[in-house]
Amino acid sequence: MAATVTFVINDPLASGGPPIRSVSAGNYPPGDIAKFDIKPSATPGKYDPLTPEFDYWQTKLALIGGLRTWKTLTGSYLDRWWGNQSALPVMTDAGDDLNAFYDRSSLQFFSHGFGGVTVHSAESVDVVVHEQGHALLDAIRSDFFDVPFIEVGALHEAFGDCNALLNALEDRATRDAVIAASPDLSGFQFVESLAEQLGDAIRREYGPDSVETGALRHALNTFRWVDPTGLPSWAPADQLAGEVHSFARVFVGAFYDTIRNIYTSGSSGQANLRNASRTASFPGPSRTSFVATRPPFRHPATFRIQPSERAWPAAGSPRRWSGR
Ligand SMILES: [Zn+2]
Repeated sequence: MAATVTFVINDPLASGGPPIRSVSAGNYPPGDIAKFDIKPSATPGKYDPLTPEFDYWQTKLALIGGLRTWKTLTGSYLDRWWGNQSALPVMTDAGDDLNAFYDRSSLQFFSHGFGGVTVHSAESVDVVVHEQGHALLDAIRSDFFDVPFIEVGALHEAFGDCNALLNALEDRATRDAVIAASPDLSGFQFVESLAEQLGDAIRREYGPDSVETGALRHALNTFRWVDPTGLPSWAPADQLAGEVHSFARVFVGAFYDTIRNIYTSGSSGQANLRNASRTASFPGPSRTSFVATRPPFRHPATFRIQPSERAWPAAGSPRRWSGR
């Protein structure tokens, strides 16, 4: 009998999602493709959360799922990561912080305790697959990585969040649960709620203005594009700021609306939701009518890129999960 491990499918604080699973200890897809080197490693087994062994398998299964989603959506695995790397190093617990990042030479996740609650960011599939999204985008468009423009940075952040959404919706039990929670996807639920546990930890320690209610970020939102150079560099989480994670919500919201609109224009049920998610991820003629819900998507010419010294504090900044 194959060794089994425990896997939390979405986020440790996801509400209404599928229960914790016992799954076969997975391995990377075969072949000479871009993979990961996760440290510290662990043999398969039943481990408790907040242990290095649990974090290894939780992170590995999340990353394998993300690779498979990428293959499903693009038709192939990546050959290499940025810099021709075949195995991107991953540290499941790189120190004390409420964050995670991709810096071209690694993915790093952190742990932090506050008020008697300890959080490991590597235990959230939302967070892991978001960071994986940075690495995927960097492998195909390296010119987007370290650019001093708010909208380019926001696009990188949005790509991570959209990667998390698309990965979540590849799972059938997740699709069933999200439809049960909100039949037309117009209500808040665990899929559009991103990084619930990390958001909860940041909220408890830094106050209600620091994150949105119920999640670090919501894909279900009504933010609309404005010139980000006219926005303050920080704003309460329910308002848009000229900061990449905050401004990314314009893109993520439009993308989630696209999935919703495709889904609600077809039949109900999880199969059509899978179709909607996959269709939204592909560029093509059928997409434009659904995307045309808010600027700048209706008028691409207005999708201006403005320089701003506020976008990046310094060259070479890693792509973090949170802009806090
Ligand atoms: Zn990020």
